[in-house]
Amino acid sequence: MARIVQKFGGTSVGDVERIKIVALKVKAEIDRGNEIAVVLSAMSGETNRLVGLVNEMGSLYDAREYDSVVATGEQVTIGLLALALQDLGVSARSWLGWQLPFHTDDVHAKARIQKIDVDELNKRMKTGEVPVVAGFQGIGPDNRITTLGRGGSDTSAVALAAALGADRCDIYTDVDGVYTSDPRIVTKARKLDRITYEEMLEMASLGAKVLQTRAVEMAMKYGQRIQVLSSFEDKPGTLVVDEEEIVEKELVSGIAYSRDEAKITLVRVSDKPGVAAAIFGPLSDASVNVDMIVQNESVGGKATDLTFTVTQADLERAVKTLEKHSDDIGYEKIHSDDNVVKISVVGVGMRSHAGVAQRMFVTLAEKGINIQVISTSEIKVSVLIDEEYTELALRALHTAYGLDAA
Ligand code: ADP
Ligand code: ASP
Ligand code: MG
Repeated sequence: MARIVQKFGGTSVGDVERIKIVALKVKAEIDRGNEIAVVLSAMSGETNRLVGLVNEMGSLYDAREYDSVVATGEQVTIGLLALALQDLGVSARSWLGWQLPFHTDDVHAKARIQKIDVDELNKRMKTGEVPVVAGFQGIGPDNRITTLGRGGSDTSAVALAAALGADRCDIYTDVDGVYTSDPRIVTKARKLDRITYEEMLEMASLGAKVLQTRAVEMAMKYGQRIQVLSSFEDKPGTLVVDEEEIVEKELVSGIAYSRDEAKITLVRVSDKPGVAAAIFGPLSDASVNVDMIVQNESVGGKATDLTFTVTQADLERAVKTLEKHSDDIGYEKIHSDDNVVKISVVGVGMRSHAGVAQRMFVTLAEKGINIQVISTSEIKVSVLIDEEYTELALRALHTAYGLDAA
């Protein structure tokens, strides 16, 4: 007997018919003799709808009330699945985040899970009851409902699996695994049988939304096995594993993209000690996360242009902050541009091979695509380009690194 946490995403619980299919999948695992806990998302589109309602009330909202609104989507699906399971003769009950509870910190709208109480679940699971748990939500130290950031039910599932000591955490979604690139854009993308935690972490944080970044972080920390698989087909998916479990290491395992990028250029900043601190200090105080940075050497040593990227959501705040501190920083003007995309190639094989970045630059040059900013780490190379070339760049790079499906 294995203990398994099954997580079903938005499309998988998109309507009553699909929820009934999910109930059959849960029952099939129980019939194989396994002990099951389920974590669900809201119906697809529902969380977007709820966020839209909050935004209609005005853009400067109280994040605690945002959480209380957007957490409601999951309450509907867990109740419906518990009913569908009961119809199949399976003992089941729904659990909201606060009922377990999932304790989180108080950073509303992007809270982190700190601890989960599973004593009651353990007791009930031993009697054969299936807990159907709401993903994406918890309760903060202020006794208010919190949510974990978009895509957060993956993290709920992995955290619950770790707390329950589950043998596996199966993430059911609308694709049959993790691909070399987003299969909706790169039709030649290939499904990976295995991917390392580290590569999955990079892919997720660089934009591949098939798993939330924090879910991978948590799985890595607790050594929790994850499988990503389809809720529509019955076949094995992708296992996220330790590096030692992969014999044939690919040079590049995947190519990710993120459209959630904006570029800011400060024109003619003085080239003197302390300027970077004068720019990035206030941005950090304003909770703006800065990602890629380039600074040109100045001609004659007086002034230089400095370019960096932030998320689109932070753009307005970043520009306002820089304008407020313009006297301390000293620059001529600010340019900003949100028609950019970050494309990244990821692979643990890069550690031991040179030339990966060069192949990226040559491939983009051949397509006439201009690179605006570059950043690298041990296992990834990222470039910022004009958003208009997203598909072209992804497909060309996919071919250039030999990733295309046969
Ligand atoms: P769910 O609602 O099940 O959580 P998501 O929409 O959050 O599903 O994540 C699944 C989607 O992730 C897929 O439909 C796919 O378009 C996208 N995706 C992006 N990059 C990848 C990748 N490398 N492999 C698989 N899917 C990817
Ligand atoms: N329903 C939430 C969202 O859409 C959580 C999730 O689907 O993982 O972001
Ligand atoms: Mg998701």
